[in-house]
Amino acid sequence: MQTECIFCKIAAKQIPVEPIYEDEQVIAFKDINPAAPVHVLLIPKKHLEHLLAAGPEDVGLLGHLTATVGVLANKLGLAEDGFRVVINTKEHGGQTVHHLHYHILGGRSMKWPPG
Ligand code: IMP
Repeated sequence: MQTECIFCKIAAKQIPVEPIYEDEQVIAFKDINPAAPVHVLLIPKKHLEHLLAAGPEDVGLLGHLTATVGVLANKLGLAEDGFRVVINTKEHGGQTVHHLHYHILGGRSMKWPPG
């Protein structure tokens, strides 16, 4: 855990959170500034600064995160119409919180390409 990382604090429940899904490795919660009718963040509890910080030892964790997207899609009612998963990575990716997170966005049609 990184003491100054807001998502580490959420994962450790040092900041109040209403988990949408949680297990030993990951936690999902609503984005505080939603960009779609449904906007959930899925994070590993382990601090990884971004996707590229994941090493060979994290392959299982990345697989679990990705598999959890499906669990969330069903739980959030997004499975039928679809949704978007975004992993903003570093500066050009628009990453602002430096703890790996999957954005799960749904409830409306998405545009392409993103800005
Ligand atoms: P990024 O721009 O891909 O790094 O996304 C960070 C996301 O975290 C943004 O969509 C923020 O709205 C969201 N966010 C920041 N702080 C919190 C929080 O305390 N709770 C929930 N979402 C947060």
